[in-house]
Amino acid sequence: PLSTTDHIEPHRISVCVRKRPFNKPEITRKEIDVVSIPGKGALLVHEPKQKVDLTKYLDNQVFHFDYSFNETATNELVYKFTAKPLVQSIFDGGMATCFAYGQTGSGKTHTMGGDFTGKQQNSSKGIYAMAAQDVFAYMNHRRYVNLDLSAYVSFFEIYNGKVYDLLNKKTKLRVLEDERQQVQVVGLEEVYVTTSEEVIKIIQMGSSCRTSGQTSANANSSRSHAILQIVLRRNDRATTMHGKFSLVDLAGNERGTDVSSNDRITLVETAEINRSLLALKECIRSLGMNSDHIPFRMSTLTKVLRDSFIGEKSRTCMIAMVSPGLASCEYTMNTLRYADRVK
Ligand code: ADP
Ligand code: MG
Repeated sequence: PLSTTDHIEPHRISVCVRKRPFNKPEITRKEIDVVSIPGKGALLVHEPKQKVDLTKYLDNQVFHFDYSFNETATNELVYKFTAKPLVQSIFDGGMATCFAYGQTGSGKTHTMGGDFTGKQQNSSKGIYAMAAQDVFAYMNHRRYVNLDLSAYVSFFEIYNGKVYDLLNKKTKLRVLEDERQQVQVVGLEEVYVTTSEEVIKIIQMGSSCRTSGQTSANANSSRSHAILQIVLRRNDRATTMHGKFSLVDLAGNERGTDVSSNDRITLVETAEINRSLLALKECIRSLGMNSDHIPFRMSTLTKVLRDSFIGEKSRTCMIAMVSPGLASCEYTMNTLRYADRVK
């Protein structure tokens, strides 16, 4: 049951926030819940009734977003109001992009890739998989079946400004821009897919590649951006792209404030993550203001996502993830301020 409307929603950027439930350690520590969601779009960070010095950042701050999801929301519900409305735009020849933003441990990978139960990731319940399911459903819809489209999947990681192919043994790839400002990731694997089950297998393969390279600092996936792309191509014109859906599990934003470590790699990583998240904010804001100048060259992340920030039909959605506890409050505030700025 698809609801294909004649017009794409005029809404080009939507910003939502998702609060995750307390985890076991937080419950054991009896952490205080500082985030409440009083309504569909509102979110409140409030001062707990305890004698702690919180004056620095806590005075019942209210934020307003397109949607706010509380800790009882399922991935299905979040998907329905975030990435799902974007699927149609790639069939209408546009670019759709969905970002998961937030501190490490706030639920970005849970939301995008699906829940980990034990050691195994339940990928079928993540936004990646649900988007893939809808892509194949649309493909067979009478409105689009005559377009004769094929779908291809790429999955790569950006770590320290470098691109690594998660579907090809983490090969390091070059990013090139031609004279028409078209950006290309040279040699990126594009796997032809015909079912969402195939996409799920690819996601699982790529995700395990992402977390298991333990020799370098790259072992920590929270320091890299992971980008899954579903590309639609016309079979009659094999080289032309019809539409593209980019689903981005961003690097943890907490290092923006945490420079306590003197570890040189960490500092380099911090600078790069800051740079890319700042660039992303600027690009989304330019898109929102219909600006002709999109500062996509500011980082590798925005360079490879250049297509996402141009074109009439581009649709972007950001899901800002927050942890509920007092211990995360400063990071939560940073996340909410960032999300507030891209609206
Ligand atoms: P991130 O990718 O932002 O670092 P994760 O997605 O890995 O965070 O989430 C951290 C932990 O919290 C994981 O064990 C995950 O399963 C759990 N978690 C995150 N969000 C939720 C949620 N909405 N419901 C239940 N568990 C969650
Ligand atoms: Mg993660």
